[in-house]
Amino acid sequence: MTRVEEILEKGSLGKEDIVALLSAGEDDSVAIFRKAREVKKGSVGNKVYFRGLIEYSNYCAKNCFYCGIRSGNSRYARYEMLDDEVLESARYAWENRFASIVLQSGERDDEAFIAKIERLIHRMQEMTRHELHITLSLGEQKMETYRRWFQAGAHRYLLRIEDANPGLYRKLHPNDQRHSYRGRVEALKALRATGYQVGTGVMIGLPFQTVSDLADDLIFFRDLDIDMVGMGPYIEHKDTPLYEHRDRLLPLGDRLRLSLKMVAVLRIMMKDINIAATTALQAIDPIGREKALQAGANVIMPNLTPVKYRQDYLLYENKPCLDEEAEHCKSCLETRIQMAGDTIAYGEWGDSKHFEKRKNPHE
Ligand code: SAM
Ligand code: SF4
Repeated sequence: MTRVEEILEKGSLGKEDIVALLSAGEDDSVAIFRKAREVKKGSVGNKVYFRGLIEYSNYCAKNCFYCGIRSGNSRYARYEMLDDEVLESARYAWENRFASIVLQSGERDDEAFIAKIERLIHRMQEMTRHELHITLSLGEQKMETYRRWFQAGAHRYLLRIEDANPGLYRKLHPNDQRHSYRGRVEALKALRATGYQVGTGVMIGLPFQTVSDLADDLIFFRDLDIDMVGMGPYIEHKDTPLYEHRDRLLPLGDRLRLSLKMVAVLRIMMKDINIAATTALQAIDPIGREKALQAGANVIMPNLTPVKYRQDYLLYENKPCLDEEAEHCKSCLETRIQMAGDTIAYGEWGDSKHFEKRKNPHE
């Protein structure tokens, strides 16, 4: 038995085990992916849940060093979708039985923004007779804001920790109150206390990031007992400060392989959570997301943002599907998901099984 095979037999993985799995070569990785597929089949099954992604606005009060829509980047025209456009995208998701949408945007905490999101959540719920599940990805907010949006009808919230190592987090963000690691962790706890299904995640292949950091990221998810994870490769953007460190980056292909291994090891560690096959994987490989499904992921987020806004929501370079309307993306996805051996769970909310068990421990 190889060392990797021995580790895969264990009931619980320690940090050294995780580092060994993430460092495994091509041959050993085959066994890791096989194991992750088995675990996925036995715990969450071979269903894939769709979450229609609506990139609501690229206005952002923050200035993260890696992100193309940071406030310091003056190259993009700033936009905010009209209410009717948001409702149209939500209607498309609902009528096509996606059952869930994700409303994402740059971070703002002014009352006008908070109230607008609250109103939009109400209107989407009314329009879809409460059949649509709403996930928010709107950054760090006060507990009161999280409560207002939850009471309006949002169910899930995604807030990536970006990197669980506080030292590396500091290198990736300006050193001020708005960008504090502690604040990010507190926000995740506030979301949990409010009642959301909580998702977090990291970027993989960042400059300065080590395999030991990535192992700590996976342990962070486990310690936080998180319900959902969305993580994917970091992809450089030339109009950001982090671009200056591009000579430290792994080649894109290696970042993809490492991301797939992260998905597989996480599935082995946290059997019943939802794991997204993220868009950044597709920016490196046209079938990157389908590869992630085969490595243990079970959620995909087709882009429902109106095409006219997509050029201005470029978090990183080579972002895919910039000129494809939703319908086209959906049909190409269907074929590829079938080829990956999964079925799309149309009309199912696809709540994280982990969350359901946490809510009803005796069922
Ligand atoms: N503003 C909210 C926030 O930061 O939580 C939500 C929107 S933000 C654009 C969503 C995610 O995009 C971030 O959590 C970050 O991980 C990811 N992102 C930003 N720049 C990226 C890059 N250059 N490569 C890969 N992912 C990136
Ligand atoms: Fe703003 Fe989010 Fe980009 Fe940071 S990652 S600059 S908070 S949109």
